[in-house]
Amino acid sequence: MTAFTRFSDDKITEKGFVFAPDVSAIMDDSLISDPMANPFAGLRKGGVAVVNTTKPQASVLQGRDDVTVVRVDLTGKALRILGKPILSSGIAAAVARISGIKKEALLTALSEELGDIGLGADMVAKNVEFATTIYRELAPLKLNTEEVPTAEELVPLAVVVSDGGIEKVTNTGNSYARHTGNWRTFRPTIDYAKCTNCMICYAYCPESAMSVGEDGRVKIDYDNCKGCMICMTECPLKAVSQSREGGVQ
Ligand code: SF4
Ligand code: SF4
Repeated sequence: MTAFTRFSDDKITEKGFVFAPDVSAIMDDSLISDPMANPFAGLRKGGVAVVNTTKPQASVLQGRDDVTVVRVDLTGKALRILGKPILSSGIAAAVARISGIKKEALLTALSEELGDIGLGADMVAKNVEFATTIYRELAPLKLNTEEVPTAEELVPLAVVVSDGGIEKVTNTGNSYARHTGNWRTFRPTIDYAKCTNCMICYAYCPESAMSVGEDGRVKIDYDNCKGCMICMTECPLKAVSQSREGGVQ
């Protein structure tokens, strides 16, 4: 597991990876069966994994019967309340709820943070509703993990400093060989009966996830398509449709 965020009542002096978390928030259940992501690795015995999923418990657990798994359909609720698969407020609410953070503190922090980044009042209110819905649905849990050692060490990140562009972090999870299509929420499908092979979607795809097949037709590389649906927006013939991954309606 590679994790980057932590919170504590105490001052956090270590800057670096979290190798042995008490709580793991898994926002895409396709990562569970991905050996490179392996989001249960390092999760402490007695810890809690919150998983955004519609799958049954048995297919999520992956043999980790020493942790508590909390399943919640964040994507479905985000689509219903926000109209978009943006999960941040919901996952914050889930982690806050199971770890005993008060609802008032969560909602105040959410409103302030979202207001600070310039979100309109309507969207802030919808995010508060989303968080409240998730918070209400879950119950607080007692963490039974072993004592967490106090860390004072600063962990250096392997970073290539660029000339003008953004720095490139070369640690695990940033390889060009990493397939990026497994966290897709929506799956585009081309209707070849309507498609005229104009290549507009090919030109617009920001992930270079379109190619030309042996039959000369444009095709989607599902290993790397992130489901941004720009191809659907740009197709002049409405030949691209979207469906939710995992067969969810
Ligand atoms: S959904 Fe986005 S990433 Fe996938 S093929 Fe269409 S434009 Fe490319
Ligand atoms: S933009 Fe539409 S019509 Fe053109 S190649 Fe893509 S899917 Fe086919």
